[in-house]
Amino acid sequence: MDDQILKGLLSSETLYSQPSVIRDLTALADKPDVLSLAGGWPAPEDFPIEEVTDIFNCLVGDYGSQMLQYGPTHGFLNLRKEIVKMLHNEGLKNLDPDEILITHGSAQGMNLCSQVFINRDDVIIVENPTYIGGIGAIQLRGGKLKGVPLDNDGLDTQFLDHLLIELTRKGVKVKGLYLVPNFQNPTGVTLSLDRRRHLIDIADTHNIVIFEDDPYFELRFEGERLPSLKCLDQNGRVIHLRSFSKTFNPGMRLGWIVADRRVIQKMITAKQFIDICTNSISQFVLLEFMRRGLLEKQIKKNIEHYRKKRDFMLEQMQKYFPEEVSWNRPTGGFFIFIYLPKGMKSADLFTAALDRNIAFINAQSFFVDGSGNNTIRLSYSQADYEVIEIVIREIGSLIKERL
Ligand code: PMP
Repeated sequence: MDDQILKGLLSSETLYSQPSVIRDLTALADKPDVLSLAGGWPAPEDFPIEEVTDIFNCLVGDYGSQMLQYGPTHGFLNLRKEIVKMLHNEGLKNLDPDEILITHGSAQGMNLCSQVFINRDDVIIVENPTYIGGIGAIQLRGGKLKGVPLDNDGLDTQFLDHLLIELTRKGVKVKGLYLVPNFQNPTGVTLSLDRRRHLIDIADTHNIVIFEDDPYFELRFEGERLPSLKCLDQNGRVIHLRSFSKTFNPGMRLGWIVADRRVIQKMITAKQFIDICTNSISQFVLLEFMRRGLLEKQIKKNIEHYRKKRDFMLEQMQKYFPEEVSWNRPTGGFFIFIYLPKGMKSADLFTAALDRNIAFINAQSFFVDGSGNNTIRLSYSQADYEVIEIVIREIGSLIKERL
């Protein structure tokens, strides 16, 4: 089939959708000679391989036929009950298991949000910059993005308030808002408590739905955990998306959604026609992992490990980066966001770095308005200490050469 004929057959959403730069870069960073701080993958040395092997061996004899069978689209009830207990301890009390849907990761959670809520040309507000996967899920349904800037306290809710008033005046109805409130991807910043409250007020006033994508929630290195937007929500307008990818492992592709049960029912219907049910084997293994108290231990171990790596990377940046470079100090998660000296383009730096077999993320693609051409995202989660030092040193020297 020639190109033109194929184009005529493809859906318009598919024609306009862009491949994820992150996935492309991750593929590139997989080459053995490239040293990379690009991909935000978890540290593989922390994966609980022995525990998972033992659980698998114990379960498969007794439950093998259920593990290899389709399961309910909703997810196994016992796993949802276990999640209800966990959320109770986080402050999300009195949930019913029917308000939870087990998904193939937070990525599928956002995809279901898109399917269930977004019509072509619906306006969705996002942080500028924001996670590329969120952008993609919205655009795949033909949603239109409007960016709101963030600072060290997360999304600028004053700006949002003014924007919504202005849009209402122009007759533009905003449908929803997508955000990553904790240790945001790509900036690492966290939405402050005051702004969380303000955001809920604004959403109530303007009747918008909030897609709260929170895969890094557990990975707080210091300070108090803040209540999720879902905790503050009195009107069932927050769809809370979570993940086991950063705390257990991403290969099992597990996450969950908390939402009003009517919304969950709509999502179940959508999911029935996407993948029928979430992987049964993964759910069985995770449930046993939680029941043995291993998830809590794993989270503690992850926090210790990532905190050390964050500190190490910050030290290296202090040592090797010239003073014209600025960055933030994330209190959790995987990412540090960097502003290059004025006028320096991350795209040029990226090309020069690749010539030296060094990779990072040119963060411009996280911006929805084409800005951010002097920003880069570095991740300390996956690389070992030696790689972190080499990459930071090389980036520092490339920047100094260009000053
Ligand atoms: N949302 C954000 C903000 C992320 O950073 C990621 C992972 N990079 C995801 C969603 C996808 O996570 P999952 O593996 O749970 O699908």
